[in-house]
Parts: sequence; C-alpha cells; structure tokens
Amino acid sequence: MPTDIEIAQAASLQKILPLASRRLDIQEDSLSPFGHYKAKLSLEEVQRLSGRKDGHLILVTAISPTPPGEGKTTTTVGLGDGLNHIGKQTMICLREPSLGPCFGMKGGAAGGGHAQVVPMEDINLHFTGDFHAIGLAHNLLAALIDNHIHHGNALRLDVRRITWRRVIDMNDRALRDITVALGGPGNGYPRQDGFDIVVASEVMAIVCLSTSLADLKRRLGNIVVGYTATKQPVTARELKADGAMAALLKDALAPNLVQTLEGNLAFVHGGPFANIAHGCNSLIATQTALKLADYVVTEAGFGADLGAEKFIDIKCRKGGLKPACAVLVATVRALKYHGGADAKKPGSDGPQALADGLANLRRHVENIQRHYGLPVIVSINRFDSDLIEEMAMIERCCTELDVPCVLATHWADGGAGAADLARAVVRACERSAALSGSSASSAPAAALYADAEPLADKIRAVATKIYRAGDVVFTPKALAQLQEWQAGGYGHFPVCIAKTQYSFSADPTLRGAPVGHTLHVRELRLNAGAEFVVAICGDIMTMPGLPKVPSAERIDVDDAGRISGLF
Ligand code: ADP
Ligand code: MG
Repeated sequence: MPTDIEIAQAASLQKILPLASRRLDIQEDSLSPFGHYKAKLSLEEVQRLSGRKDGHLILVTAISPTPPGEGKTTTTVGLGDGLNHIGKQTMICLREPSLGPCFGMKGGAAGGGHAQVVPMEDINLHFTGDFHAIGLAHNLLAALIDNHIHHGNALRLDVRRITWRRVIDMNDRALRDITVALGGPGNGYPRQDGFDIVVASEVMAIVCLSTSLADLKRRLGNIVVGYTATKQPVTARELKADGAMAALLKDALAPNLVQTLEGNLAFVHGGPFANIAHGCNSLIATQTALKLADYVVTEAGFGADLGAEKFIDIKCRKGGLKPACAVLVATVRALKYHGGADAKKPGSDGPQALADGLANLRRHVENIQRHYGLPVIVSINRFDSDLIEEMAMIERCCTELDVPCVLATHWADGGAGAADLARAVVRACERSAALSGSSASSAPAAALYADAEPLADKIRAVATKIYRAGDVVFTPKALAQLQEWQAGGYGHFPVCIAKTQYSFSADPTLRGAPVGHTLHVRELRLNAGAEFVVAICGDIMTMPGLPKVPSAERIDVDDAGRISGLF
C-alpha cells in the first residue's frame, strides 16, 4: 500500500476556481486563488449567502482514541466523498493541521489512504498563511504589552500577573518557560514568560468562533492580557491592540476551499487545539458550507467526551447550529486497547479485550443520545488486520444498543467504500428533518447546561454527566477565581475542559468506561475574547515537545521540489 503522501501526489487535481463554480452556486470572482488548487472565499460572499436555507449537518466524532488517531479526519473525508458518490451534494469542513504534530509524532492531518484533501503538502505546511497571521496577531499583542510597560505602564499592569504568553507553530519545549527583556534598561523590564503552540492561542479560538470582522474585532478587544496589582483585568482594547490585530487577521477569517482526491469540495479552515480550546474548524466555514451544500460533514477533535461535547456546548451554542446526526468512528485497535490490550504483552489483544473494550463505545453512544438527543451511527474504520469475527462482535453490540453500525472502507476504497455509511447517514438526516419539521438546522442543538448556570456547576455538569465522575474537586484558588469571574460578568460563558483524550477521566490509564472517579480542576483560564472559561484537569501541554525521533528527520524535498516523508 502506498503512503498517504504517495497517494496524494499521484492524484490529478482539478483547478479549484472552475471546479468550485461548476459544483457550487457562487460567483467565481468571490474566490481569491492561492495558486491553482487553493482559494479563499470572500467575506462579502459569505455575507451574501447568509440568507439561504441550511443543509444537513453531520458531526464525525469517535470513541476514546489511541495515540495515532482512529481515523476521524479520514472518515470525514471518506463520508463526504461517499455522500457525493451516492448523488448527494455534500461539502466537508475540516481543521487546518498544525505544524507541531507534522514534524513531531502524529504527522499530517489531511485524511489518509484514498480519503484525503489535497494538495496534501500545502495543507500540512504553510497552506494559505492563516496560522502565520494568527501567530503574528497574537505576538503583536505580546509586543504591545511589553512596550506599554517599558514606556511607563500607564495601565499599571502587574508584570507578575501577565497571562498573555507568546506563540510559535512548532513543538519546542525549550520555549515553554523563558525570561524576556534581559540586556539592560533599553530592552524593557525582565519578566518570566513562555511560548505556546499557535493552535493553543486564544486568537485561534477567536478566529474560529467569530461570525464577521466586526465580531472578530470586538472579541479581540475583550481579550484579558493580565491584571493590575489590585487584580483588575487589563484588556487588549485598553492597549489599543484590537484594530491592528484584526487588520492582520482580515484574510485569515475567510474560509479556504480545497478538493478531495475525488474532486469534492472542502473548507479547511481554522484549527484550535482540542484540549485547551474547542477543537473544531471555523464557525464561518461550517455556516457557509451549510448554505452551499445539502449535506455538510465536519469533524470535532478527540473522542466524543471532548470533541462532541465542545462542538455542541461551545460551537453550536455560539453559532445556532443543529447537527442532524453523529457518526461515531470506532476501530478494533482502540476497542481492544480500552479492554486492556497491551502492545508489550503478547496475547493480551484477543476477543476478551475487544468484548471488554466495547464498554467505551457503549458509553459514548449513550452520552450522545441521552445528553444531545442526536441519532448515532457507528462507523467501523476498517484496518487490514481486522478479523471478520471482530467486526461481527462490534455489530452485535450495536444491535443490542439499537444503533446502526456500518463497516467503512474509504481508507482503502475512497468514497465507494463509504457508500453504505452515506446511505445510513441520509436515512438519519431525513428522519431528523421529519421530526423537527424542516430540513434546516433551525433550533440549536440540545446543550448540556444553560448559559445562566454558575461556571462551577457547568464544570460539574460535564464531569458528572459526560465523564461520569463521582466528584469534582477545585483547588481553593480555582474556586476563588471562578467566583471572581462570575462576579466580573463572565458567568454566562460556556466551559472548555482540558483533559486527556485517552480516558473519560483525567487519568489516561483509566481506560474503558470508568465511573465514580474524581475530576481535579488544577487551573482555570479566562478566555474573555473567545468567550469561554478553560478548566485544566491533569497535565495538559500548551507547548508540546518533539519525540526522540521526530518525523522531521524523515521529511525531505528533492531538486524538483517534490516533498517526501509527510504522512
Ligand atoms: P484522527 O482524525 O482520528 O486523529 P486520522 O484520520 O488523521 O485520525 O488518521 C490517522 C492516521 O491513520 C492517518 O495517517 C491515516 O492514514 C491512518 N488511517 C486511518 N484510517 C486507516 C485505516 N482504515 N487503515 C490504515 N490506516 C488508517
Ligand atoms: Mg483528525
């Protein structure tokens, strides 16, 4: 089997402008081409389309994953191709990959096998420059903060209470904790600082939740950069940073259009981290795709406890979106892992491991049905090593749960391999539309908690209902902070919980479907611009490191400019 990049490079791509104007009802001059195969859709066109009726929204989520990923992106692309294959006009919405994992361990994030978006090298590397713009807007604010302090600090920022760090789109552990402004009075006031990866920037989350340039600028202005000695928040607006930041981000807010290997259209736009932020592509891209296509397939990061929860409770809440159904990606490999299989113990990955691991799948199905009222379709992402008996076990479990279960082979076969999945999704969408009385995503999705509930109760709701924790423990400092923000006018924000993706709990070793565990809230962060409060539980990295043998060592480019080693 050729590698992902070999398959992508063998494909013959169509010019994006004629392809888009043939397949979508948009004016060709509303697209700005970046070379032949990538284009940005203008924000004027986005506005012009806003009065149209919405298509059906399909969320692709997954069981709790293993480190290499279980194929959500691959399934999102495969299902989009599969729906087009059975004659349904469909668009795909994905996140832009981060450069960190590209050179680190996981590799690219443009799908895999015969279900990919292309040009794969561009999408995985610089693409249309959105991440650079986001990094720069973030660092402009950082520079303005230190400059403000250097020139007299009229806003009386306490240098020990600055929360705005710097960002770079690279895994670089040496930058996690640093000292800035060394070298004498001309260089400012020395202070402790650090870098996060660009996808962890609040600016990334803001770009992905903004509905217009005006909304973007308002949110940028609301960013809290730190506090005074008397703990009063200081905002980006007070530093007069919002205008220039928005100017840097003007083009980054416009969605990027590319194609799949089968010539179907996809928006690949925005890429907030799935732990510290909400982990889905931009709201603008999803809303616009819903105006342009009858079906829109989108992915949310990690397992359904994190990705689907944030998709519904943050993105759908903000954007008034209502998905028609959820596709839960499952793999034999991950189910066995949840049933106790251990790569180092031969024989530990037998039928019993799979049978035990199905508890994880049951829990995710139950959560999505019970708490979000969404129909679920289980999609088995088939690997060559999977046995017929193993897939039959998963099917039996789904029959007991009374949810459709489809074997999908898009990784090997492209859209044709997801045709059955596509038909199951169409049935679910039509049933949802009949129930809600229209085909449009009119009323927003059922959320887990109401805006008016106190922040601490929102965290408890996610912990007890979705994670099935027995208890939530806040440090005294965290509780005091929540009370301050509650009183400071931020109490109506949703919460964004950052925890490991490998378990329903915050302990990555508790596999399967643990109950009664305790969720420890270690630290809280106020994202006043993105409009959510982040609760950090367990060890979460906002600046990942590179592994001992990083993928970067295998990446190369030949004399003709052909890239190899991306996967
Ligand atoms: P996720 O979005 O869940 O993190 P991806 O879709 O990015 O996962 O897939 C991760 C990797 O696994 C990719 O390199 C992809 O090519 C590979 N992969 C996905 N599905 C299959 C499959 N059925 N067989 C073999 N490899 C697969
Ligand atoms: Mg993915």
